[in-house]
Amino acid sequence: MDHGLIDILACPICKGPLLHRREQQELVCRGDRLAWPIRDGVPLLRVSDAREISQPELLQMERR
Ligand SMILES: [Zn+2]
Repeated sequence: MDHGLIDILACPICKGPLLHRREQQELVCRGDRLAWPIRDGVPLLRVSDAREISQPELLQMERR
């Protein structure tokens, strides 16, 4: 799959950069605290596809 594509994707809500979490297969916007799934290498970036990220989960990400 082409990782370059995912690197240039922006958050559909705030247009900020998305963090690619490879293990979780999702793209995260820290500002909105939302994550979008990647299915078969294709990011699903509709607002309705997003899941909310809990505060502890967000802190864990930032510790990396
Ligand atoms: Zn955002």
